[in-house]
Amino acid sequence: MAQEAEVVIVGGGAAGIAAGRRLREAGIDCLLLEARARLGGRAWTVDAGPDFPLDLGCGWLHSADRNPWTKIAMALGLTVDRTPPPWGRRAMPIGFPLAEQASFEAAIEDFRARLDAASEAEPDVAAAQFLDPGSRWNDLINAIGTYVSGAELDRVSARDYGRYEDSGVNWRVVEGYGMAIATYAAGVPVALNTPVHRIDHGGRRLRIETPDGTMTADAVIVTVPSNVLAEEGLRFTPALPDKVDAAAGLPLGLADKLFLSLSEADEFEKEGRLFGRPDRRGTATFHLRPFGRPLIEVYFGGNLATELEANGDAAFFDFAKSELVALFGSGFARRIAPVHIHRWKADPFARGSYSYALPGKAECRAVLAAPVEDRLFFAGEACSRHDYSTAHGAYLTGIAAAEQAIAARHTR
Ligand SMILES: Cc1cc2nc3c(=O)[nH]c(=O)nc-3n(C[C@H](O)[C@H](O)[C@H](O)COP(=O)(O)OP(=O)(O)OC[C@H]3O[C@@H](n4cnc5c(N)ncnc54)[C@H](O)[C@@H]3O)c2cc1C
Repeated sequence: MAQEAEVVIVGGGAAGIAAGRRLREAGIDCLLLEARARLGGRAWTVDAGPDFPLDLGCGWLHSADRNPWTKIAMALGLTVDRTPPPWGRRAMPIGFPLAEQASFEAAIEDFRARLDAASEAEPDVAAAQFLDPGSRWNDLINAIGTYVSGAELDRVSARDYGRYEDSGVNWRVVEGYGMAIATYAAGVPVALNTPVHRIDHGGRRLRIETPDGTMTADAVIVTVPSNVLAEEGLRFTPALPDKVDAAAGLPLGLADKLFLSLSEADEFEKEGRLFGRPDRRGTATFHLRPFGRPLIEVYFGGNLATELEANGDAAFFDFAKSELVALFGSGFARRIAPVHIHRWKADPFARGSYSYALPGKAECRAVLAAPVEDRLFFAGEACSRHDYSTAHGAYLTGIAAAEQAIAARHTR
């Protein structure tokens, strides 16, 4: 590892890679320090056989028509698939008749309209406050909330939830979103397997401490997940209690994906969608035959995902199997087998899936993003006001932090 660089970037996810690319374009001597043995962070494509790339983290180019990763993926020669997402269409009418789905859709639209109309009002409250107490769809609205935020609606700031901006266009990268993001790091100097434990900003130069030794730099861009900052997996000397508090106000919710193989897959339409139990808070959602492949992608969020993580990988499969068997009969069990799961909460360099704000904590995003002494800069999805929780939000904060670091050069 080099002993010094003008700018050190801590963390090689979407934000750190975007920052690195921007700094290199500006001809700045930079080094990206990544704790893992790979780049991409919560963007991670694994291969489940030829032509079967699986995104264990981000999979959807949300707001794809204005998402910078869309253009980047195309420029890298990757294939952007524009099939609309399953959640934009009706679910399969198994265990959830179409008339019931229409009733549910009306209920969730009303919930969102009430929330959007009042989310900037004082005081900020939990998103759950906008549920209609008499509605029979509250459990399923909450379950959807756990896929969106990774947390139950009673933990989520309505203000922050209302600030999320979504163009409604969702596409995918056939070869993998994680693959696109990691590939984009080409040309950025990187040290893998290099966790940063401490950043000492007490002296004239910043000192960045790792197990391989200490580096010095004029500026650092910190892009680690909010939970890593809140739990002080990375510390500052002198301490930065405002940053730790802001990160604690923006915990990572939990969403985990399980991929199942599916035999005799042709029986099902491509890109189908199913809910395990539309009458339960803790239910999985199933995406059948993504890209037409003989697979089922199962999504778990919030408390359900947390409970299953505590019981190990097999607990996810057992839960998914029990819901599928209840829908299709006991013979279905022999048609599915687990292919991949990643437990994001148990992952020490993520500690969760994506950030949400606790009630009253929406402004923490700006506090977390604010530079310190014009030489410690912060990026990562949790720093984004309108695109938090996403890979494109992470990208935009990485570019913003790199621009701040470039502007600060002139004052040194
Ligand atoms: C299951 C799941 C599904 C998702 N689906 C979508 C989706 O469809 N669309 C979408 O846009 N987003 C989705 N996301 C969210 C998206 O993946 C993240 O918002 C985005 O990748 C975060 O990028 P980042 O750079 O902010 O953080 P990260 O990707 O977490 O990058 C931070 C990096 O810092 C490293 N690090 C941590 N600690 C240290 C340390 N001490 N020293 C050095 N390095 C350290 C980490 O290893 C990591 O590489 C999903 C996430 C998950 C988990």
